[in-house]
Amino acid sequence: MTNQTTTDNPYLLLTPGPLTTSPRVREAMMRDWCTWDRDYNELVQEIRGKLVRLATTRFEEYTTILMQGSGTFSVEAVLSSVIPADGKLLVLTNGAYGDRMVQMARVHGIETEVIDFGEVTPVSAAPVEQLLEKDATITHIAVVHSETTTGMLNPIADIGEVAKRYGKTFIVDAMSSFGGVPMDIADLHIDYLISSANKCIQGVPGFGFIIAKTTELAACKGGARTLSLDLYDQWETMEKHNGKWRFTSPTHVVRAFYQALIELEAEGGVAKRYERYKRNQQILSEGLERLGFTILLPKQSQSPFITSIYYPNSEAFSFQVLYERLKKAGFVIYPGKISQADTFRIGNIGEVYPEDMERLLAAVEENRFW
Ligand SMILES: *Cc1c(COP(=O)(O)O)cnc(C)c1O
Repeated sequence: MTNQTTTDNPYLLLTPGPLTTSPRVREAMMRDWCTWDRDYNELVQEIRGKLVRLATTRFEEYTTILMQGSGTFSVEAVLSSVIPADGKLLVLTNGAYGDRMVQMARVHGIETEVIDFGEVTPVSAAPVEQLLEKDATITHIAVVHSETTTGMLNPIADIGEVAKRYGKTFIVDAMSSFGGVPMDIADLHIDYLISSANKCIQGVPGFGFIIAKTTELAACKGGARTLSLDLYDQWETMEKHNGKWRFTSPTHVVRAFYQALIELEAEGGVAKRYERYKRNQQILSEGLERLGFTILLPKQSQSPFITSIYYPNSEAFSFQVLYERLKKAGFVIYPGKISQADTFRIGNIGEVYPEDMERLLAAVEENRFW
């Protein structure tokens, strides 16, 4: 299978996200919906039910909140709503999205500790445990699962185990991994998992979602630091009014997301999607290595979603030229985002298949100028 480009959709987005969606996901947006009509709200409820079942087999202990905006808005909704005034957040970071959580906490005046692992080292439990031993005032721990900055897949199970043992609330930004790698958030001791419509579920951008442990969320009433990102209030409205959002919801995007969930099921669920992404990433990285490129991360840290690649060691190389040439050939790639080396990135999630990765590699080889 391959996803050939068309005049309507002239290139594949290897830039998660947004990412390349299926034609039927895009077609699903061709109808207007009323935000307070039963048909639409039932669709929302069905989505909420499906998401919680994707996240865990112990779905009766969890609930889903959908939140307007890009993924960052949902991360901020969690951080600004669930940490009490006398709480203290520990953020583990090894990239821009971990750093962004630190920045949010500062904006909201939340007391924060940071463990910075650098850009190419996975987070680990030992320093977390040491800090928790020293500082009993920490109440919440936040970490990014798949750090899109580099493509690092962090070992969140180890962190969840420590969080659980010390009785801390565990918050995971699983934006670019949820739906693309098998996980059970109950086993991982996650209290709040955050993701968005336009990553591994393969919808279009416009909202994020939070899967929360119901007992944790229920204790957060009145704790929000903003009005529009009040997670508890958004949840309560959805619960009490059968899928109603507090403020105008991105109706077309929601309908497209529903179609994307149906397509995830049709593909065989998360396990099968993970297989495809893993295969895509493997073909991509092995092919690039054959063409003389070096991959930033060692294989054991590399996620199946996005790959960081060093610039070739040649004066003639220009990312901008490669970018333009590949775009003409039907592929949009991603600039790098780390400070310590010149890299670029290629994503492999979305409606893209191993054959598309082969076509991309052929295009890189054909357009080689360095
Ligand atoms: C995409 C992404 C986000 C959210 O980014 P937005 O641009 O706000 O959608 C957050 N964390 C990670 C790890 C991401 O990949």
